[in-house]
Amino acid sequence: MQNHTGEHIVSGVVHNLYGYNNVGFHMGSEAVTMDFDSYITPEDLRKIEYLANKVVIQNAKVTVSYPSAEELKKLDYRSKIDLTGDVRIVRVEGCDACACCASHVNSTGQVGIIKLLNSIRYKGGVRVSMLCGFDALEDYSKKIDNVAAVSELLSAKPNEIASAVTRVKEELAEQERKVVEAKRYLGQIILDSLKDTDGNICVFDLFLDVADLRKLVTAGIEGRSGVFAAFTGNDIEGYRYVIGSRTPDLRKRAKEINEALKGRGGGSAVMLQGSAEASRAEIEDYFAGFSVND
Ligand SMILES: [Zn+2]
Repeated sequence: MQNHTGEHIVSGVVHNLYGYNNVGFHMGSEAVTMDFDSYITPEDLRKIEYLANKVVIQNAKVTVSYPSAEELKKLDYRSKIDLTGDVRIVRVEGCDACACCASHVNSTGQVGIIKLLNSIRYKGGVRVSMLCGFDALEDYSKKIDNVAAVSELLSAKPNEIASAVTRVKEELAEQERKVVEAKRYLGQIILDSLKDTDGNICVFDLFLDVADLRKLVTAGIEGRSGVFAAFTGNDIEGYRYVIGSRTPDLRKRAKEINEALKGRGGGSAVMLQGSAEASRAEIEDYFAGFSVND
């Protein structure tokens, strides 16, 4: 009842200010939503919220009546459609009159706070979500708990958590940039250390992901005969691999390689990608004996 009477008050305020109509009302599990047939800016909604709460503070009477057909014709009320039989009018004194058959509180003070939560553009108008009275109180408590938890995590004052999150995100972006740079550097060190090594190459790295392995392998097979196999992972959780070669045609060898690595994967003639369950020792043994002429 608090939410429903609150909805009448807000719709009355909107109608009195702008002449817009409430064309949809839904009581959801999280909030009540109201749809208006024209767009209302967030700034104007803030003003509407204030005026609606003023109606609450004034403790206006909420009354129900069944006007005669004659009276109805003269009456200005919302939801004015051709209805047959008795029309039940719910009036919020000084604010609203609306055809409605639901139960309402007796006076606006019983609605408690009216809190508009957010708004989105909807079907050429706006959908506003709202909570009133005890539902608003419960929502407020939950939000305070959440803010307190975030505030503690960030060591920031409750009303400064947004700027603290912005700072954390900036720091994270900076760290990510450094990680990308460090991985590029690491890839270059690996390539430099293998510059004078002939034959098949098999490298393991814990820090590189598959995208990094692809870059490493792409650079590693330049001017090299034999395969360049790069792995990331460990013996317990398994490995992800990228294997590259100018010769032989890896597509033709994929089945054999995957059998040896206890893995699965595929790709092109020059690059295979997949996962392996063989141990590092088994993998190293396999590539030590790998013949490009098979
Ligand atoms: Zn109603």
